[in-house]
Amino acid sequence: MSPLEGFLAGQIRATGPLSLAEYMTLCLQHPEHGYYTTRDPLGVTGDFTTAPEISQMFGELIGLSLAQAWLDAGSPAPFTLAELGPGRGTLIADILRATKGVAGLHTAAELVLVETSPTLRARQREALHGFTAEWQSQLTLKEQPLFLVANEFFDALPIRQFIRDGEAWRERVIGLDSGKPDSDKLGGGKLGGGKLTFGLTEIAEYSFLEHRLGDTKDGDIVEHSAPSQAIAAQIGQHIAAHGGAALIVDYGGWRSKGDTFQALKAHEKVGPLTSPGEADLTAHVDFEALALAASPSAACELTPQGIYLERLGVTQRARALASRLSGTALEEHIAAHRRLTHPAEMGRLFKVMAFYQRGATPPAGLQDGI
Ligand code: SAH
Repeated sequence: MSPLEGFLAGQIRATGPLSLAEYMTLCLQHPEHGYYTTRDPLGVTGDFTTAPEISQMFGELIGLSLAQAWLDAGSPAPFTLAELGPGRGTLIADILRATKGVAGLHTAAELVLVETSPTLRARQREALHGFTAEWQSQLTLKEQPLFLVANEFFDALPIRQFIRDGEAWRERVIGLDSGKPDSDKLGGGKLGGGKLTFGLTEIAEYSFLEHRLGDTKDGDIVEHSAPSQAIAAQIGQHIAAHGGAALIVDYGGWRSKGDTFQALKAHEKVGPLTSPGEADLTAHVDFEALALAASPSAACELTPQGIYLERLGVTQRARALASRLSGTALEEHIAAHRRLTHPAEMGRLFKVMAFYQRGATPPAGLQDGI
């Protein structure tokens, strides 16, 4: 049993089953054994690869989209340029490289990077050589315009899962196997053998799920991420009050339905309970929930990633880069373009959501003809 498994078992014996949100937080963020605390999980040698790691084109086009939004807002100075969960710092480095010709942007930008992992903060510092940045564990904003990007950040935030039962819900929780068959059923494994297992709480009503009684039936699973909604609300309110725009890129859809809780290890799906602290844990992002949290104040727009990148001219950019490449490098470049944009790859599952000021033009790429 790994140290983290031992810790989780002790925690469950002491205080009862964990919600998926508590389990995700401990597995990903435990100060000693957490997944993100202990490693750089990205790239071929890691567990997963993200768009900025696939091609520089992704960061360049995001950078130009943000720069255009900044120009449209009248080039405010100073302003906050923030990234949530910057990973290896590749995206922010590409954004800064692509925008260095935009007069006044770099001098006006105050960089804020929200990152909990010490390992990844060190990688980001290297990627940003020459730039000054402030690292934060939680987004804290100065009262000035905000231009923000988050790629594959919200999928790492904790979710809870609920199964519809009549006019109410049971929460899916994680307990310990009693060693007997069927321990995965009601009241699942509070005590016992020590293997982590899924269980269900007693039936209860949840006010934040009331609107889901209309579109679910008995046995359906819905997911709810309170931290995601809180951050979306904070960004929406900030942009409404101080101006700016946010681009949130992630996999997911409009209104969560079904179990999307998953674990990835060495680019393969594994059971989410099999390697706590050793596998990446994520859930699909519910963009409707983000939009509802932000939209009392800000305007929102959503577009599939493939369409967003095409509108920003990814194919022209790919051709320009291709003219300087040959052999394996060219093949890889063509594959990267396809991976980012094709509907069967990241093009459709991944979405780009923008928050911007009501009455302003949506950021480039979020609307036809822009
Ligand atoms: N945006 C990067 C990395 C995505 S991986 C890319 O596209 O390559 C998720 C990132 O979010 C990592 O940097 C991870 O350490 C960070 N992260 C995860 N949960 C976090 C949290 N609760 N607070 C701050 N950062 C978090």
